[in-house]
Amino acid sequence: MSILSDLSERVPGRTFGPGSTEYDDGRTVFYGPGDPDAVIRPTTPDEVAAAVRAAVAAKVPISVRSGGHGSLPATEGVVIDLTEFDGVEVGDAGLVTVGAGAHWGDVAAAIAPHGLGITSGDTLDVGVGGLALGGGIGWLVRTHGLTVDLVREVELVTAAGEVRTVSAESHPDLFWALRGGGGNFGIATRFTLQATPVDGLVGGHVHFDQSDIGAVLRAWRDITVASPDELNSTLVVMPPFAPGVPAGPQLAVALRGTEEELRRLLEPLLSLPSVTEVELAPVAYGDLLEAAPPGRPPFRFVGGNGFAPELSDEFLAACERALATPAPTMLMLRALGGAFSRVAPDATPIAYRDAEALFIVNTLLPLDAADEEAAAVQVGLDEALGFTSGRYANFTQEFGDDVLATIYPPATLDRLRRVKAEVDPGDVFRPAHHIAPTR
Ligand SMILES: Cc1cc2nc3c(=O)[nH]c(=O)nc-3n(C[C@H](O)[C@H](O)[C@H](O)COP(=O)(O)OP(=O)(O)OC[C@H]3O[C@@H](n4cnc5c(N)ncnc54)[C@H](O)[C@@H]3O)c2cc1C
Repeated sequence: MSILSDLSERVPGRTFGPGSTEYDDGRTVFYGPGDPDAVIRPTTPDEVAAAVRAAVAAKVPISVRSGGHGSLPATEGVVIDLTEFDGVEVGDAGLVTVGAGAHWGDVAAAIAPHGLGITSGDTLDVGVGGLALGGGIGWLVRTHGLTVDLVREVELVTAAGEVRTVSAESHPDLFWALRGGGGNFGIATRFTLQATPVDGLVGGHVHFDQSDIGAVLRAWRDITVASPDELNSTLVVMPPFAPGVPAGPQLAVALRGTEEELRRLLEPLLSLPSVTEVELAPVAYGDLLEAAPPGRPPFRFVGGNGFAPELSDEFLAACERALATPAPTMLMLRALGGAFSRVAPDATPIAYRDAEALFIVNTLLPLDAADEEAAAVQVGLDEALGFTSGRYANFTQEFGDDVLATIYPPATLDRLRRVKAEVDPGDVFRPAHHIAPTR
């Protein structure tokens, strides 16, 4: 019997193969279409449990898809697609229950009439599941922390096909692991999160030419380290690589406050001679989120990310040198600190809580660039990356045990492996950043 027929018998009516819309939707992620044996699209936690039991019985690998913006295309086995789990319910005291398959743009739109928001990512189309299990560096990270810091309860289907409600009270270790340990512990179907009031936001963009990138970096740093938690910002330096994409530093910023206050806080940047455009105005939280680009740009990305504990002059000078690489190089600094840093390093698996910023640097090489060229470019970027600690899993597209050891400090990784051994001893769930159980 084929895997598809086997799974169709075990989860009748919800299993789809090639030729169906459900199969095509479920196998397609941001990084392209996959080629799994089947897609199961459950509608209830019990159907998710049936899908897990069916895949385990059929001995096929499981891929889990929520929004499809983090996973690599599945090349075998079954994709359990949570598209139908797209509900958003506002409860008492700002608690919001969201389905794992909802997109953050839809969540923002659904809770906006209540004056609420949940800081998640910067993108409308990113899914709840992958982001809320992996971290969630969102627009209001300095004000309210990571998305995982706002999770209060997770409905989880385990490897044994059991549906659990996981909270700090009911399963403390598993709850800890689910807030940064990714999809290693089961399939999350719903999350209850603490939303926050997001009225009175002001924000927008400031663009600069390339005449003095160092001055922009230093002024941004001075503002970031001195500013109140209400100021959130990301500084991107774009290379001149695509027609219509302006090169140079671009600041995206949001403040819960007045426009006058925002302009006062940003004064060291706004007074730089390299400013070319300033757009700052009152904004709704949902309007800060942008549509994702249509798939991964056609480049070989070389570089990496890391948590910057200190935005020192030496680090910023290394950033400038990284930008001087002959091939087009983009750099991003996402301001952290604030509420992000007030969470203890061992309170969630995301341990690098002393960071002032998340630093991302990528040189964009042609897709067919040779490994030697990529390695040489990487050496140039490693100087700046050397000022950072750890890595953010959800932005890390390199995999394996060495990479895992940079995402989680040793004590955190040991604890994750122990939780894994308890909840998934047979190692059924093997996401890209795979945490094997302690043996
Ligand atoms: C354009 C773009 C913009 C982004 N912007 C941000 C940003 O601003 N901030 C930020 O923090 N991150 C951002 N990210 C990264 C994002 O957090 C991850 O890619 C995340 O994994 C996407 O979640 P998803 O549900 O869409 O992905 P999916 O591809 O559906 O899931 C990714 C992986 O997570 C696991 N998983 C997903 N859902 C479940 C579930 N319900 N149960 C168990 N495991 C599950 C699986 O292992 C899966 O392979 C961005 C990514 C992209 C592509």
